[in-house]
Amino acid sequence: MPPDPAMNDLSGTRRAPSRVGGTRDGNSASAHGRAGQLLAAGLAVAALYVVVPYGLFASAVYVIATALAALALALATRRRPRIFCPAAWNLIACALALAAVGHGIWYWLDLRGLEPFPSAPDAFYLAVYPLFMAALWMLGRQSGGDDGAFSDALMVGISAGVLGWALLIAPHIYDPDLTVVHLLVSTAYPVADLMLLPLILRLVFLHRTRIAAHLFLLLGMLAYLVADLLYAHGNSTGWYAPGGITDGLWLAAYALFMAAAWHPSAFAEPRSRASSLELSRRRLLVLGAASVLVPAVILFTAGTDVEIVRVAAIGSILLFLLVMHRMSGLIRQTHRQAEALERISRTDPLTGAANRRHLERELAREMTRAERNRTPLTLAFLDLDHFKQFNDTCGHSAGDELLRELVAAWRNVLRPTDVLARFGGEEFIIVFPDIDGRQCHAAVERLRTLVPQGQTCSAGIAEFRPGESADAFIERADQALYAAKHQGRNRIVRTDTAVT
Ligand code: GH3
Ligand code: MG
Ligand code: MG
Repeated sequence: MPPDPAMNDLSGTRRAPSRVGGTRDGNSASAHGRAGQLLAAGLAVAALYVVVPYGLFASAVYVIATALAALALALATRRRPRIFCPAAWNLIACALALAAVGHGIWYWLDLRGLEPFPSAPDAFYLAVYPLFMAALWMLGRQSGGDDGAFSDALMVGISAGVLGWALLIAPHIYDPDLTVVHLLVSTAYPVADLMLLPLILRLVFLHRTRIAAHLFLLLGMLAYLVADLLYAHGNSTGWYAPGGITDGLWLAAYALFMAAAWHPSAFAEPRSRASSLELSRRRLLVLGAASVLVPAVILFTAGTDVEIVRVAAIGSILLFLLVMHRMSGLIRQTHRQAEALERISRTDPLTGAANRRHLERELAREMTRAERNRTPLTLAFLDLDHFKQFNDTCGHSAGDELLRELVAAWRNVLRPTDVLARFGGEEFIIVFPDIDGRQCHAAVERLRTLVPQGQTCSAGIAEFRPGESADAFIERADQALYAAKHQGRNRIVRTDTAVT
């Protein structure tokens, strides 16, 4: 995504918009302003709707406000082409358009004194949820892979689902007066709300990226859910009447959606944590609270309602499976990271050969083994000839490439037990277990023929003397190498024979 002024201020409203500076700052400030104006206007309409007596005027306000909110969202994606995931905002716009149609029909029926349930508006209202879900899912799409946010959100969603079942759905199911359609439609709302919840929470968990637009959207979704819950409760207990706070909350939700789409941070892309090991304290707290919900439901309903206990048991099984899934993800990642760390700690990044630290460890091990088993152990110190000149003529990156090719070629012919290490610059040490100086000489002779790009190398070979230190062993090979260089390069010198 191209850089955008909004990216510098993801917390959004905290910083006063800069009045000075170039047009980009100016654009950002005006976008801030537009989001604020839309929010204020939307909330004012919501308040007006609650305050004016319920009737034709209020109904018209409601329908028009919803339709305008849909329009504002659709416009946001047209006027601001670089908005993150325009499809998501368009889906929300479509959802609001459907809600507006639903409201229109509902109020028309209501004003004519008809209040059938279920009725045509329910089809429109219910269609809102899948669109919201798809939009939230898309907005949570992040670069850098899933950091477990969805699994965690699902755990909370399942716990809330069990609670919701006990409080909202089960009472409807056991009402013998309800018809099947009535039952299906009335349970569809809380079920849809409960499905929406994990997707909202997923964005909350990803909210580390502090995208103010998403915060507005989430607040809007929460307002929507709360309004749904109030409506479900008010409808079943009889206190709900149109034109009140519940309807106002839906309007407030639409105002928040508009502000979200027009906020400058709507350009920003959510990013996951670098590692799923990094479970934030906030997320752990939410997960902890959610995990006690299901047992609590069992505790309070056990003995009185077997059906609810059964649902809670299913919820528990799903929760445990999710916990296992999450744990296996964490364990896999820990292993991967440990392996990567181990690899990094023992290899030279340029050539992939062993580094000095690994060489020291391996050499010490082989020396102990050679002493214990009285087996031969040899060490070759190799150095490219006139490598500086090669660098000067062909360039440093060609030199790097030669070093890489050299290690690959040598590795091909060495035994798995030989340790090839980059000692420094263009100097290499090879530890040859179980072979004497003569055999080592033959092996290094072969390596000399494999130096790429017509270059040559010199080598010094030393045979291990039991009791000597690693430093002394290496020093003797280094002296042999020095002798090889001194004698004209492109040759091998053995300390024990001192002949080429
Ligand atoms: P001699 O035959 O005496 O060994 O001569 P030389 O030029 O090979 O040795 P010298 O010690 O004078 O120079 C070593 C050169 O190796 C100098 C340095 O630029 C080069 N070198 C060291 N590390 C690297 C590296 O990682 N990449 C590249 N491309 N060059 C390196
Ligand atoms: Mg050299
Ligand atoms: Mg050198």
